[in-house]
Amino acid sequence: MDITNFSEKQRFAPLFDGDRLSHAYLISGPAGSGKAALADTLAAAAVCSGAGKRPCGKCRDCEKALRGVHPDIAAVEKPADRREIQVDQVRAVRADAAVLPNEAERKAYIIRDAGKMNPSAQNAILKLLEEPPRHAVLILTAENPSELLPTVRSRCVELILSPAEEALPEKAEKLAAGLLEAAGDELETARFTFTLDKLSRQEFTEMLEAAETMCARMLRADAKGAGTVLPSPLPERYAAVFSRAREFLDRNVGTGHVAGYLCAELNRRV
Ligand SMILES: [Zn+2]
Repeated sequence: MDITNFSEKQRFAPLFDGDRLSHAYLISGPAGSGKAALADTLAAAAVCSGAGKRPCGKCRDCEKALRGVHPDIAAVEKPADRREIQVDQVRAVRADAAVLPNEAERKAYIIRDAGKMNPSAQNAILKLLEEPPRHAVLILTAENPSELLPTVRSRCVELILSPAEEALPEKAEKLAAGLLEAAGDELETARFTFTLDKLSRQEFTEMLEAAETMCARMLRADAKGAGTVLPSPLPERYAAVFSRAREFLDRNVGTGHVAGYLCAELNRRV
């Protein structure tokens, strides 16, 4: 795992910028969205002794965090033979949090799948959240944060992860990005689509699929209020155009004709 990975992502960058860690985080998102990795990164940031952006990934503390042997990082999860995280496990965290860190400036506690805490465990964690020791950082992860008491949630900085995004084929993604950038500008689109004529049917289809996926991502980002590349309703309209163009290719329409169709549709004033 590359623990500096998250700090490179624009969205999470402020979390790792200098000394601004909060006392409690709740990381939520579906399976495979990177909850555990982000929790581990935050824990490493809590103990990192490097200067500047944390985790630095290079200091002794980061190195231990990476190997999972840092004495100031502890993780709690549901015992394999139980259905819930037990109150005793949380009490042990509270008792440990009251003691100063061993090596680092802070102690980090990760509670994996925190929605599995039974009510008494949640009340025990609430007590810790209400009066956290100065050096403690609590990191909860949950697939479904509504399983947590509202009083627990409200005391955490919530970080919501999206489903894992599949990587697009590199060449297709590059072409699709070029196409989306040119879209709306008549001359640029004409220039760009002219070059598409040289693609094989397969490459053309892959580019259209990539462009469609990128539009879908823009729409998702739009729904969450994050920054978009194209303003609404363009991603939706373009996605329909790309889908239609793929149909044409499927039906053996020549690539030159499909390129012409794209050029006309991407410049159509609505
Ligand atoms: Zn470090």
